[in-house]
Amino acid sequence: MDDYALVLNAGSSSLKFCVYRRPVAERWRLESRGQIEGIGTSPQLSAKDAQGEILAENRLEDWVSDGRAALDALASFLRSKYGGARVLGVGHRVVHGGARYAEPVVVTREVLEELYELVPLAPLHQPHNLAAIDAIFDRMPDVPQVACFDTSFHYCQLPVAKIIPLPSDIRKSGLQRYGFHGLSYEYIASVLPDVAPEIAKGRVIIAHLGSGASLCALKNAKSVDSTLGFTALDGLCMGTRPGALDPGVVLYLFQSLGLSAKEVETILYKKSGLLGISGISNDMRDLLTRSEPKARLAVDYFVYRAAKEIGAMAAVLGGIDGLVFTAGIGENSPDIRRRICQASSWLGVELDEVANTKKGPRISTLKSKVSTWVIPTNEELMIARHTGTMLGLL
Ligand code: AMP
Repeated sequence: MDDYALVLNAGSSSLKFCVYRRPVAERWRLESRGQIEGIGTSPQLSAKDAQGEILAENRLEDWVSDGRAALDALASFLRSKYGGARVLGVGHRVVHGGARYAEPVVVTREVLEELYELVPLAPLHQPHNLAAIDAIFDRMPDVPQVACFDTSFHYCQLPVAKIIPLPSDIRKSGLQRYGFHGLSYEYIASVLPDVAPEIAKGRVIIAHLGSGASLCALKNAKSVDSTLGFTALDGLCMGTRPGALDPGVVLYLFQSLGLSAKEVETILYKKSGLLGISGISNDMRDLLTRSEPKARLAVDYFVYRAAKEIGAMAAVLGGIDGLVFTAGIGENSPDIRRRICQASSWLGVELDEVANTKKGPRISTLKSKVSTWVIPTNEELMIARHTGTMLGLL
């Protein structure tokens, strides 16, 4: 019987998955990947095989109204495709590993409890990531599970990059910058030697621009700094999160507007950023088609903030050799890439307009001082690699 392994990335309204298969005496290969989107609103399942052929594209029934129900729907799809398969392990994306986890970990009930303590630091993602682990414990108690953290890649940053300059008795409870999107950055760093060898050991800024957005400053493939910090709220403007804020703004929300902690949390995680500025959408693709001044301002701010933070990361690195765009906006929007590159021309970024419209992968001219790239990220593959290593499956 062939062996199977599963990768899950459980979010608030989506459940992404990859199925890997190891035929007898062969190597692991991707069998299928897909997602359940619209959990709680209008759930839909889509899945493709490794060649991109559609395996499923259908509306799910309304009982798929939360993460557990989505896992049940996924399980019944997987049974219909791979009934009787032997599952050797499940790898999960977990956003926050706190101060403890510099590496992925095989999850026990004790580890899970510890990870639940980090929910306040990532309320948008962590509860959903952990609910998926919990559900698998219930349904497949003998299958080992591995948690792969978005924070681990940044563990090696120096204390000066991690410190939050508040009194030490407050910092004792784990108050420090952690950084996120680490699985994405780790994947990009792992492919740079093949895709862009001339910058693989150099000073590189990776711009992960999706619904969540951040920058990572890399030196010799190691994280030196990143724009996300203690929580996933800092740095760049995001779909529904504001990015860096004067902390006085938060005091104002409490003291002058009299908002509750829950209300402030909702504003910061779900109502700000592109959505907050435009009042129209959190989705960059939508905003780029709109002519309303507020939609334009949202896009302008997104670009402005990205360019500003690229300048800060370049200062941290003492100049840059490479710039890489990735994630939904970074991979798919030539317009946003052009605007960020133009705003970063003072650093020596010179865009090749034609290559940019074709998605590169190299999008800078040959004489550009900074070689600039579009590289699709693959967080699921990174999780699969870690899970394989941790469970001795490779
Ligand atoms: P992600 O979180 O990485 O899936 O990225 C989601 C973001 O990518 C959303 O804001 C989408 O609107 C944006 N996006 C996807 N495709 C495009 C595109 N062709 N042009 C502009 N933005 C895009």
